Amino acid sequence: MSAFLKLLFRNRLAALGAVVLAAILILVLITPILPLQNPDATATADRFKKPFSEGHLLGTDHLGRDLLSRLLHGTRLSLAVGIAAALIAATIGSAIGIIAGYFGGRADNIIMRGVDMLMAFPYILLALAIVAALGPGLMNALIAVAAVNVPFFARNIRGITVGLAGREFIDAARLAGMGHTRIILTELLPNVLPVIIIAMSTTVGWMILETAGLSFLGLGSQPPQADLGSMLGEARSALISHPHTSVVPGIMIFLIVMSINLLGDGVRDALDPRLRSGALSRPLPATLVDRTGDIPAGTDDLLAIQDLQTQFHVGKRTYRAVGGVSLAVKPGECLGVIGESGSGKSVTALSVMGLVASPPGVITGGAVRFQGEDLIGAPYEVLRQKRGDRVAYIFQDPLATLHPLYRIGQQLAEAIQSHHKIGKAEARARAIQLLKDVRIPNAESRVDNFPHEMSGGMRQRVGIAMALANEPDVIIADEPTTALDVTVQAQILSLLDDLRRDRGLAIIFITHDFGVVAQLCDRVAVMYAGRIVEEGPTQAVLDAPAHPYTSRLIACVPELGGGRRELAAIPGLPPVVDDLPPGCAFAPRCDKAQEACRVGDVALKGMAPRAVRCLFPEEAV
Ligand code: SF4
Repeated sequence: MSAFLKLLFRNRLAALGAVVLAAILILVLITPILPLQNPDATATADRFKKPFSEGHLLGTDHLGRDLLSRLLHGTRLSLAVGIAAALIAATIGSAIGIIAGYFGGRADNIIMRGVDMLMAFPYILLALAIVAALGPGLMNALIAVAAVNVPFFARNIRGITVGLAGREFIDAARLAGMGHTRIILTELLPNVLPVIIIAMSTTVGWMILETAGLSFLGLGSQPPQADLGSMLGEARSALISHPHTSVVPGIMIFLIVMSINLLGDGVRDALDPRLRSGALSRPLPATLVDRTGDIPAGTDDLLAIQDLQTQFHVGKRTYRAVGGVSLAVKPGECLGVIGESGSGKSVTALSVMGLVASPPGVITGGAVRFQGEDLIGAPYEVLRQKRGDRVAYIFQDPLATLHPLYRIGQQLAEAIQSHHKIGKAEARARAIQLLKDVRIPNAESRVDNFPHEMSGGMRQRVGIAMALANEPDVIIADEPTTALDVTVQAQILSLLDDLRRDRGLAIIFITHDFGVVAQLCDRVAVMYAGRIVEEGPTQAVLDAPAHPYTSRLIACVPELGGGRRELAAIPGLPPVVDDLPPGCAFAPRCDKAQEACRVGDVALKGMAPRAVRCLFPEEAV
């Protein structure tokens, strides 16, 4: 709850809305105990007194009634009716939506056609018709406003429920013997509740407006009872001669609706799980750069990551995801980057092309040089031209990165056409050739498949084809085979190996699997807590790991036909990168740790290309 409030109040407009609304609510709650005049007491001698008149702070209306008193009592009534209508509409509409979405089939059809019939009427006409049938009065206006908003909630919540009803956790609940009522109350409702709250917070404002509208037309509150709409309606005839009688309730309606809408938007953003980790704004097109310190000089490598530092700034916390990483690849070379989850491999890779989401990501130091040109802080247009053209990515989950509604041929053609001015037919022919290159059978027909029509291995090949679409110089493959079975994994690794030999591609291969590194990579860099702890030629590192972490990682790999042996799991967990221990970050898990390891920074030492960050390495390098 406190995290939700922190996020909510980080959005300044939402905070402003909350403050204004809270002030109005407090005022209307204490209205009965305030020393106000009777809101309905008329005094024709005091008609149309101006604001700040003696005894009438906001003046009086056409019957000499005190406007301040009528305003506060009227606001109290309008808010109560608007909020009650929103609660009734949300409860009935959500219940209808959940039942229709959960049961589906005929029940869904019958219920939703009824809802569609209600939606077919213009809602204000429907509200007028309901009040006309029930008779004027505030309670009837409340019923009318609630009734016309029920279909809105029903449609919204039904859509969410249909998606949830087919999910595995609902199947599991059914298999566990739960009844429909229990599944709806304990499994579905908690999942749709945030959506209901968001819909309510954004609709209560307009329900207050609708109630005021009915009262304005004389169908809501009846004289002498005041609500904001009836105050406006009564002031209509004196709009020109005595505008304050209209302006006073008008400003109050404006403040209520604006504050509710601002707060509603803030609630929606704060409840959005995608925004919880960062500030309440959408990611920038390139990672934010706030470099301090010297920029390293250029090298002759194809791609050089030099002393790269990337952090995540979340509230007052700073997560040092990448703490000074240097890596380089030459044409035709494959560099493996290995480490446990959370060691900073992917953030390093995404920093290369400024793809770390900002906020909360910030590149705070170092350089990334492609053919000598520093890409950190480069103009967005430079990055856009190089992304996917000179430096391409293959991501772990192609189902998440491919667009589900476009055929793979269209997506491949788009990747090509965004960098090269070629026609549709040529782009399609190139897409087919790419599918053949990644050994997809029947490429001519497969090119028209949607992503969901392909297997996981096929989709991963499409991901590779897309990375190859513009014949890049560097491919960064971020655990591209993790989700695949071993035979498909072997095919994809051999495909990547052939492509790099045929095309002179440089590959940075991120993985947590030493078997994959041994098969594909010339060199390997081992990462721990955002830093390189060991690097060198793959065979040298595998034969004689120098860093205790590397040797523990290798000891975790089962050996086929190697006889029975205990797999030595590494005790403990990687450190949280916002609270790294002083000295060696691996010290709490290292059985060779000594007092000296816990004091001061441990530098990367050795004779290139071998290097290790350890005071007491297993092997001298
Ligand atoms: S520096 Fe010390 S604690 Fe760190 S890996 Fe080496 S021996 Fe272990």
